Amino acid sequence: MTGHHERLAVERVPKGLLIGGKWRAAVDGGEYEVEDPSTAQPLCAVADAGADDALAALDTAAAAQPCWAATAPRERGEILRAAFELLRERQDELAVLMTLEMGKPVAESRGEIRYAAEFFRWFAEEAVRIDGGWQTAPDGDGRIWVMRQPVGPALLITPWNFPMAMGTRKIGPAVAAGCTMIVKPAHQTPLSMLALAEILGQAGLPDGVLNVLTTTRPGEVCEPLLRDGRLRKLSFTGSTAVGRRLIEQSAANVLRTSMELGGNAPLIVCEDADLGKAVDGTVIAKLRNNGEACTAANRIYVHASLAEPFTSRLADRLGSMIVGRGTDEGVQVGPLIDAAGRDKVDSLVRDAVRAGARVLVGGEPIAGRPGYFYPPTVLADVPAGARVLREEIFGPVAPVVTFENDDQAIRLANDTVYGLVSYVFTESLRRGVRYAEALETGMVGLNKGVVSTPAAPFGGVKQSGLGREGGRIGIDEYLETKYVAVDV
Ligand code: NAP
Repeated sequence: MTGHHERLAVERVPKGLLIGGKWRAAVDGGEYEVEDPSTAQPLCAVADAGADDALAALDTAAAAQPCWAATAPRERGEILRAAFELLRERQDELAVLMTLEMGKPVAESRGEIRYAAEFFRWFAEEAVRIDGGWQTAPDGDGRIWVMRQPVGPALLITPWNFPMAMGTRKIGPAVAAGCTMIVKPAHQTPLSMLALAEILGQAGLPDGVLNVLTTTRPGEVCEPLLRDGRLRKLSFTGSTAVGRRLIEQSAANVLRTSMELGGNAPLIVCEDADLGKAVDGTVIAKLRNNGEACTAANRIYVHASLAEPFTSRLADRLGSMIVGRGTDEGVQVGPLIDAAGRDKVDSLVRDAVRAGARVLVGGEPIAGRPGYFYPPTVLADVPAGARVLREEIFGPVAPVVTFENDDQAIRLANDTVYGLVSYVFTESLRRGVRYAEALETGMVGLNKGVVSTPAAPFGGVKQSGLGREGGRIGIDEYLETKYVAVDV
């Protein structure tokens, strides 16, 4: 990848706020710098919105709502379909842009853009399938008519780890349902969202339907929106701590909320697992997205009979991965998002080692180069009290713990406040079904290290969230159900 290509990818993106179809500066003229995590150098500056900009965005979203709700579903679907095509056409350039601001290897960024685009294709198809009901009341006296209507203006808050897919997973169903929206991307990765917003405009999305606020002051920008009665919906993807605070703020106006929050995924390798499949699945469940995924395997439980061969194969695989700048050829693991992210990973590893864990590979931040690099790391014999088993790691660290029987594995796996996803490797269907039913998570990967697909309902239980994104029910988050009692 040349510096020229990188510069072009960044230059091409609008850097302002998108409000009412116009790209404009923040009211107070504020801007902030977006950083490349592989060099710790600035890439460019974007507008830094404040509360006045947020209210201007809500004015336009509220004004556009009635007309947008009345648009033909097919028309809304065609806009999503056109945006799907544009994303696919521009995936190479968008992948470079995403890697520059987020760090993951370009091949993974390209994978995310294709995955992000699929949400638009999926919801283009769902827009025309919004239905209702008509039935005769049980006593024959009157009719029950049920219709679905858009919830209304929505605030969509997204994280930095999947800068585009976490957006399309919300924007797709909001457009399909007929909601207008304000999108607030993470401050570290605004560029992918700004590029996406421009593409939606080119695909025919009317002015005011989608508004974008980039900011370094998320509380100042979002709280006035949540407290304004015109906003009717909040969809948030991010940490459980911030999600909890936003649920509290949403209580004032009893907002509809969807929450995709943190995870602490267990990955269980049973005594009858296919070892090769289990190692492959663990590598992807752990290292996809530099380990910075809510779905990342956070705790690896291996049956004692397989512990030695599994752990040494995993250490070989992780130890041979190429770490570097995500735009460089052949790189498999990029930098972490920032110094705080890298330092957290480092502190979790140090805590585990102090408690008695053995480092098989990695275990120290990569020194002597700019950027926030941490090498793939395997820890064995991790003791139960170690923080690395309790907290979301968000980095390329695989802590391995052994177990003796299925009951113990299920107990250990469920011993967390989180409940997003779990992974089980077994060659027995009976055992797989038992685990799938007993694990307290919204999703289970059965002999699979990746569960994400637009066609399936993605989401967590316990403190991992509320609601589902994708699948047949993903659009329900943006629809209200109205019942009309009909006298006949
Ligand atoms: P985060 O700190 O919670 O931030 C997420 C988003 O919330 C960002 O846009 C952030 O803006 C914004 N935010 C922060 N404080 C806010 C406030 N007071 N009011 C309104 N918005 C606020 O999380 P993150 O570090 O970006 O992302 C990683 C987390 O996301 C992990 O916990 C991960 O598990 C979770 N995640 C979950 C899913 C899922 O589907 N369950 C998917 C991906 C990620 P700023 O950038 O300006 O701080």
